[in-house]
Amino acid sequence: MNFVKLRVAGFKTFVDATEAPIEPGLTGIVGPNGCGKSNLVEALRWVMGESSFKSLRASGMEDVIFAGGGSRPARNHAEVVLTLDNADRLAPEPFNGADEIEVSRRIARGLGSTYRVNGREVRARDVQLLFADASSGPRSPSLVGQGRVGEIINARPEQRRRILEEAAGIAGLHARRREAEQRLDGAEQNLARVEDVLGQLG
Ligand code: ATP
Repeated sequence: MNFVKLRVAGFKTFVDATEAPIEPGLTGIVGPNGCGKSNLVEALRWVMGESSFKSLRASGMEDVIFAGGGSRPARNHAEVVLTLDNADRLAPEPFNGADEIEVSRRIARGLGSTYRVNGREVRARDVQLLFADASSGPRSPSLVGQGRVGEIINARPEQRRRILEEAAGIAGLHARRREAEQRLDGAEQNLARVEDVLGQLG
């Protein structure tokens, strides 16, 4: 699954809809200081499910919405759409039905964000798992930000193991196991409650 294009609208400096093709091989983003190169990479991480506004250099998630500047007024929503090539049909179910997958995230002031995959609304978790299974995601080591190399060199062994697990595409399995354990806990608690009630009735 390769990235094909990124469409950004109302996100940080990208007030107007802007489309960036992502060709096979190396993609470079060039431009003067402060023009929004890092914002574009942050848009990519945001649509893949980044949940920490701090790691997007923001003081609240709504800060990613264009705040106004020059003669342009602030926007009330932002949207990022990432198109993935799924010709090899490696996407996990239920997203594996088409040659291209369109993942979008939209945020509106006061309303939070919503995710869609091929137009169908999904949970943040579904999008995070989709990318984790493809050895990618908002924290993927393939997105090498400033200071990241030093961070990995100085990381504790467990942190380094997490990086390797992410690269191997098994981070999603851990997340699914945690979800399954939580469901099991819930079911056990319900069962205990039923037994209490039965005990009282008997
Ligand atoms: P450098 O080359 O210096 O690293 P860059 O091209 O990576 O710069 P960014 O860090 O992506 O630039 O963009 C920074 C700019 O984005 C700042 O001018 C900042 O004011 C602007 N910015 C950040 N959030 C918003 C927002 N919500 N609305 C409008 N502008 C924003």
